[in-house]
Formats: sequence, structure tokens, C-alpha cells
Amino acid sequence: MTVPVLGVHVGAREDDADPVAEARAAGADAVQIFLADPQGWKAPKEHPHAAELRDGDLQVFVHAPYIINVASTNNRIRIPSRKLITTHATAAAALGAKGLVVHGGHVAGDDDPAVGFDNWRKTFERQAAEGGFAVPVFIENTAGGDKAMARQLEAIARLWDAVGEFGAGFVLDTCHAHAGGLDLATVVDDVLAITGRIDLVHCNNSRDGADSGRDRHAPLVGGEISTAALVEVVRRAQAPVILETPGDAESRASEIALLRDALG
Ligand SMILES: [Zn+2]
Repeated sequence: MTVPVLGVHVGAREDDADPVAEARAAGADAVQIFLADPQGWKAPKEHPHAAELRDGDLQVFVHAPYIINVASTNNRIRIPSRKLITTHATAAAALGAKGLVVHGGHVAGDDDPAVGFDNWRKTFERQAAEGGFAVPVFIENTAGGDKAMARQLEAIARLWDAVGEFGAGFVLDTCHAHAGGLDLATVVDDVLAITGRIDLVHCNNSRDGADSGRDRHAPLVGGEISTAALVEVVRRAQAPVILETPGDAESRASEIALLRDALG
């Protein structure tokens, strides 16, 4: 088989971080970036490397802030969350991004999950009435919580009943899948049976055990998941891959090389 597009997440650690240079140094063909503080509600800023991202040959993916939770029954979270998805999608389009990654979110302890799935549906429905999002929105599976919208397969199935018709995409994170209690040996087929699509793989190892509910990424070699199992997920998914593993430029380069060798 052909090796998929392999990329790295480059965090906004410094204002002068150069995601294009960092991705190239890792030998990547794709890069994932934030356009605003991942823990904040601020609108995306013009990216200092916008022209290189837009005009270069790296595939670009944008990760929306983690605090976004469009499932929430709390207006003060849900409404700004919708707005951030819209503004981030527009900013991502200006960079030629392939998609905007958004976590599935959750409802609170007393809430009926049905309301959360319906809030996701409304997010897409309202935007569809405005012509849709400027780039495809890819919903990512998450690791923790009993009332998550995209942890267990049953939840993902309910979510897809709500958003599938609007062309939502899916991001499969291997750390989240493992820590969330999904079986990595079958997860690609299990997800495809529900969504019909995997648009991106976040290939990460996990520092915690199966179904621990904890979201702590580990390097491809040395976490709770066997490296072979990670490679097999990537092989089966046939989608672009982004590494969100901890480590420096050198370790990211060796992980890209490891995947390239294993998949070639
Ligand atoms: Zn991820």
C-alpha cells in the first residue's frame, strides 16, 4: 500500500514558532496547528506564517480550542463554542486547511445526552442555513467522561445520526480510543461501520491503561499501546496522520521515519 500523508502537530509554544519549518524538520508532509490559545475563547488571529501555509505543499489541519463544547446545555459555553467553530473554520480556510478538528464534547452529569447530540445537530443545521462551514469540521473521539458525545461507539453512533447528513468528518485519536475503552484491533472497522469515513488519524500512544478515561499522550514507542497496534490502525484507516506525541523535533522526526518504514 502507499504510505499515507504523515504530519505533526506544532503547538503555539512561542509566538515565533514556525510550523512550516518544524514540520519540514520532522520530514512531515502535513502540519496541524492552533490558531488561538487552545484553552481560551479568543477569536483566531492572522497567522504569522499564513502565506507559507497557504501556498506551500504541506497539508494543513487546524485544531480548534479544547474548551469548545457545542454539546453543552449551558448557553454560556454552547453559544461561544459555536461561534469559535465558525470563526476558526473561516480562518482555517484562509490557510487552505483540509479541515478543522473539534473535540466531541460532553454534557454534564445531570443532563440527558440526547440534548447534547441534538445540540451538535443544531450547530451544523444552523451553519448549513448560512452556507456551511468554510472548511469541513472533523469531530474527534475523546477519552474521558461518562457523558461524552464521542467516546464509546454507542455515543458515536448517536452523534452520527445527528450530524452525518451535514457532511461532518471524523478524527480517530488512538490514545483517546485506547483510554476511552475502544478496542484498537477493531476500532477502524467499528468506526467506519458508523461514520463511513475517517478523515484523519491522530496517532498517539497513551500513558494510561485501556478504558482509564485519561487523556495523556505518549511517544509512539514506550506507551501502553504496542507500536505495532498503532501502525496497524494507521494502515487500516487509510487517512492522513498527525502525530500529537510529546517530544522534541528529533523525536518527531524519528516517529515519522518509523511510520514511513513500517507502512512502506
Ligand atoms: Zn488528538
